[in-house]
Amino acid sequence: MNPYKSKIICSKCKKRYKKIIESGKVKFICGGYSNNNGCSERTVISEDFIRGLINRRFQKELSDEEIRDVLEYILVEDKLLMEIHFNDRSEPILLKGNFIQF
Ligand SMILES: [Zn+2]
Repeated sequence: MNPYKSKIICSKCKKRYKKIIESGKVKFICGGYSNNNGCSERTVISEDFIRGLINRRFQKELSDEEIRDVLEYILVEDKLLMEIHFNDRSEPILLKGNFIQF
C-alpha cells in the first residue's frame, strides 16, 4: 500500500508526485517531471524522510494505514521546502530550509 498515493503535490506544476524505487528505496518524484511533461522540478523525496517527519509529529511510529488516514496532502517545493497538511486540521508541518515547525 502506498499511503501517499495522490497526496504529494508539486508546487510548481500542481501535478501529483509518483512513486519510484531508487536503490531499493521508495521515493517520490513530480509526475510532470518524470514523464517529461513540462515540469522542471526534479526533486526526489524519500519516503523515509516524510515518514520521519510524520512520526515525529505524532510521537510514534505510524502504520501505512494510519499515515493514509491522517495525511491530507503534502505540498512540495523542493527537498527542504514543503508543507505537510493533516486531516484533523492541526497546524501543518512547515519545512523551510533550516527551519522546521512541527
Ligand atoms: Zn512538477
